[in-house]
Amino acid sequence: MKPFFLLSLLWCQFSWAIDTQPLNKNQSIDYPSIARIHFQHQKQLQSLDALSDVWAVNQQQQFAIVYIQDPSTLQKLHDLDLPMYLDHKLMAQHALDQQNIKANSHLSNKMGTGIPGFACYSTVEETFQRMDQMELNHPNLAEVLDIGDSWEKTVNGLAGHDIRILKLTNQSTIGDKPILFLASAIHAREYATAELNTRFAEYLLSQYGLNADVTWILDHHEIHFSLQTNPDGRKQAETGLLWRKNTNQDYCSPSSNDRGADLNRNYQFEWATGNDQCGPTYGGSSAESEPELMAQMAYIREIFDDHRGPGINDPVADDTSGVFVDIHSYSQLVLYPWGFTGSLSPNDNQFQALSKRTAWFNDYLPESASDLYPVNGASIDTTYGELGIASLVFELGTSFFQDCNSFESTVLPDNLDALMYLARVAQAPYKQPLGPDIENLLLIPNVVLADSNIQVSGTANDDRYSQANGPQSTESIQSVTAYINQLPTQATSGTALAATDGNYDEVQEDFNSTISTTGLTTGKNLVYVHASDGLRAGATFAKFVDVVLENEVAHLTGTVTDALTGNAIPGGLLQINQSNALTVSDGSYSQWVQPGQADLVVSAANYSSQTLSNLNLVAGTQLVQDIQLHPFCDIFSDDMESGSPNWNNQNPWAISNELSVSPNNAWSDSPGGNYSDNLNLSLTTPAISITDAQSLEVSYMSHCDTEAGYDYGHFEVQFDGGSWQEISTCNNQDQWQQEIEPLNPPNGSNELKLRFRLTTDSSVTRDGWHIDDIKVKASGSLCTALLVDTIFVHGFDN
Ligand SMILES: [Zn+2]
Repeated sequence: MKPFFLLSLLWCQFSWAIDTQPLNKNQSIDYPSIARIHFQHQKQLQSLDALSDVWAVNQQQQFAIVYIQDPSTLQKLHDLDLPMYLDHKLMAQHALDQQNIKANSHLSNKMGTGIPGFACYSTVEETFQRMDQMELNHPNLAEVLDIGDSWEKTVNGLAGHDIRILKLTNQSTIGDKPILFLASAIHAREYATAELNTRFAEYLLSQYGLNADVTWILDHHEIHFSLQTNPDGRKQAETGLLWRKNTNQDYCSPSSNDRGADLNRNYQFEWATGNDQCGPTYGGSSAESEPELMAQMAYIREIFDDHRGPGINDPVADDTSGVFVDIHSYSQLVLYPWGFTGSLSPNDNQFQALSKRTAWFNDYLPESASDLYPVNGASIDTTYGELGIASLVFELGTSFFQDCNSFESTVLPDNLDALMYLARVAQAPYKQPLGPDIENLLLIPNVVLADSNIQVSGTANDDRYSQANGPQSTESIQSVTAYINQLPTQATSGTALAATDGNYDEVQEDFNSTISTTGLTTGKNLVYVHASDGLRAGATFAKFVDVVLENEVAHLTGTVTDALTGNAIPGGLLQINQSNALTVSDGSYSQWVQPGQADLVVSAANYSSQTLSNLNLVAGTQLVQDIQLHPFCDIFSDDMESGSPNWNNQNPWAISNELSVSPNNAWSDSPGGNYSDNLNLSLTTPAISITDAQSLEVSYMSHCDTEAGYDYGHFEVQFDGGSWQEISTCNNQDQWQQEIEPLNPPNGSNELKLRFRLTTDSSVTRDGWHIDDIKVKASGSLCTALLVDTIFVHGFDN
């Protein structure tokens, strides 16, 4: 590398950092600028919020990200006398975003290309088109409603937008259905929010009839989406403006980009007058003064019953149904009422359970909204405070203009799971989150002839709570119950499922029982399962059992054996075209499969799984497939208890007893304290021989307590001394988690090294990265020698 290039790299790194010295009162800055302002108590944070545009708040580190648009804002911030550090990294990102939007602005009126520069986010028009498409493709499940007009449409009937609702439910099943209401994009600039909800709606429709949970949820619930809650404002934000409010010209001045009302301060409950009409949180001239909100609240009052008593401290009854979620960005939070006061709501216990279960899925911090900073006239205070709806806010991701890569890889999948959980418990959100969850529910076989037995297995777990804001109390599992074609909440009787270890007496319990399908009609039947901790039953989980006629399905049979020894593999799982089967003691299996072309996936504990592609399954015929699986053998294992020789650890990486899984030791990047700023330090394993390995799997325990969005752990691999490849990154994860990574070695590879590398930026430090219990497993002929050795050592005597 040439010296000047190295220098420019160093300079780049520096220019992307956060200032180490606070902003001097006489210092001149560029506009706009973005700064971290550190505060010591909530009052100061409230002042910040009143004076400026607060983008995000980090409560643990006690700083706010603040947008400084002009000299007068800077002066007001200086007057607060709080340390202010320019964030060059965010400024550079913001400038890049603006360039990106500009460079793609020629696409702005072309349907289907998304927000310029952010192709993964639909524009308002595209969102409306996708809503219409859902209604067109699924007329019995989806309906689009026009519930009012945006501000621009109320003053000029031709321009502006309709306020539209997408309602999903199976219109053939009638009755009083619990409601999940999902709102998004009330703040115009929060790009990812509408997309998450739109994708959730499309996911539900695409999985109806295929996924048992989606099917019962749409059969027995209504899900209402307010996808583009603030369409006028959103059109401004789509041009790259940081527009937050609606576009009401009566506030501030008609042509100002600071005009409009903050719709999420315009709700009725504890609404308060604001005096700065140009400020980002101006709440309108009176509660529900804005047409977008008037329409939304009229609709909500029509579809939800009122379950709240007259007093501020009247709790909502435990069996109340319905959930409201207002999706915002950014900060990675799950918030619950109250927002207007630091006092606890009368349902605080239940909100803690609901938010901690939800945050288990998206890994966000669960906290009360006022812990962030107190606000008046916000959505969830009104939906909970007025009507008693269990209400949450999500603050998605790490940026208003979240890049599409991280949206697709993290924000979307994590939050789809969180929304799915809320749909599951919408029938009793104040009660079910206090009861246990079900994991790994499996029915085998699930495609059966009439009058068969099926095995129901899984794990009941009362402990699936986020621990990020303190522990939640848990109880032992007392029972697990299955119900066929009857929702547990409506069923008269179910079948008790037995604990695998004989007794239900722990917080986490495996269950395994046989139930009969006698009396079920041909076609897909639903098996519902829920668990109880004695006090409360938890969320409902379901799977299909497909009762078939023999001449209408294919019959797949064969054996599964060990590729090295030829021994039968009992308990192997075969999955094909939604049909599951297990091998029995002689390694044989037999399963009914719906006809068609499909892939067969075969897996078993301690074996490398195998896929047989495009099997042709013909109704009324039998297909025989004998499968050999290659066993995994351990080729590297280190629990850090015996000194870990031959590792390469850059100082201060060391083995320490600060935190560990297998007692007493683990690697730590910063034993006994926090890591430092501006680091790039790695820990590398010795070379691991992988000659003749067919497939590899690395597992390790990771505790990655770093600053969210800035400081990262990178897990990397290297084959035969080649270039390092990043496999995964971690950050902001302050509990132990097992990471399992399958690796694909290039053909003919002989040697593998693993590297754990910590990178940190120029401010805010945390405890850091701890690594324990690393294992590498391989399959292939490399295992032959190892396994023969094991057999010899054990001497066949067991
Ligand atoms: Zn927001």
